[in-house]
Amino acid sequence: MTVSTLVHIADVPVGGEHFTTIAGPCAVESHEMALETALAVQAAGARVLRAGAFKPRSSPHSFQGLGLLGLEILRDVKAVTGMPVVTELTDLRHLDAVLDVADAVQVGARNMQNYALLAELGRIGVPVLLKRGLAATVSELLSAADYVLEGGNERVILCERGIRTYETAYRFTLDLGAVAVLRERTHLPVIVDPSHAGGRRALVLPLSLAGVGAGADGLIVEVHPEPALALCDGEQALEASEFGAYMDQVRGVARVLGRRVPGPSLPAIAGYDIELADAA
Ligand code: PEP
Ligand code: MN
Repeated sequence: MTVSTLVHIADVPVGGEHFTTIAGPCAVESHEMALETALAVQAAGARVLRAGAFKPRSSPHSFQGLGLLGLEILRDVKAVTGMPVVTELTDLRHLDAVLDVADAVQVGARNMQNYALLAELGRIGVPVLLKRGLAATVSELLSAADYVLEGGNERVILCERGIRTYETAYRFTLDLGAVAVLRERTHLPVIVDPSHAGGRRALVLPLSLAGVGAGADGLIVEVHPEPALALCDGEQALEASEFGAYMDQVRGVARVLGRRVPGPSLPAIAGYDIELADAA
C-alpha cells in the first residue's frame, strides 16, 4: 500500500504511518457541551477536535449553528484543552473569523464543488479537510482538491463520507472502494467519516473498522455528551461516555495494520498532555 504524505493539523500528524482520530460534536451548541465533549474525546485518544459553528443544513428551519459565537466557544475550548480544531467554512464572508480559530478548515460535502471557496483556500497555508460531495466521483473529488493545490496550498486531507445510492437502509453508502482507489491515485491523506455515512450510532464502529481496513489514515467521528438532546445529527453521535471503548477497538485494528496510533491520554489541562503507558 502506498504511504500518503504527512499533513499536520497544528502539531498533529495526519497521513504517513500515523493514524489520527478527529472527534467532537456535529455542532457547537454551548460552551459546556463543547468542552465536555472535547475533554472526553481527548482522554480517549482523539487528537483533533471537530465541531461546526456554521452548519450547512438541508432545511432552513433546522439549527444553523451558533455562528461567530460558536467560533468564540471553540477558541476557549482550544485554549483549555490544547486540542487543535477543525471547523467548517460555508461562506467566504466568514473566512477571517474561521481562520482566527481553526487549525484546519473543513469544506463540507455540499461545498465540494464551490470552486471560489476552494481557490481562496488555496491561497492560505491552513490545512483543508475536503469532504467528498454527496454524488461526486473520485475524479471530481481529486479535481476539487486540485483547486486548493493549484493555489499553492498543499495541505489537503480528503474525506470519504458516504455517497448517495439507491440504498436507504443507512444515510449514505460509505464507499470503501473509493478509499482504496484514492490511495492509488493520490499521495494526499484520506480519512473516513463513518458518522454521516451510517447516520446511526450502531453503524459507526463497523464502518470505522472497515475504513481502517480499506487504508484510511484516520477517522472523523461525531460524539455528543447526550445525543438524545443534540440539535444536529444526534442519531449518529456516539455517546461521549462510550467513546473510550470505541477508540480501543479502532486502535486495536489500526495497530494490527502497522499504524502508529496515540493511546488514551489524561486531559491536557493547563498544557500538560500526558500519554498513558501503552498497553498494546
Ligand atoms: C459535518 O461534518 O457535520 C457535515 C455537515 O458533513 P458533510 O459535509 O459530510 O455532510
Ligand atoms: Mn454532522
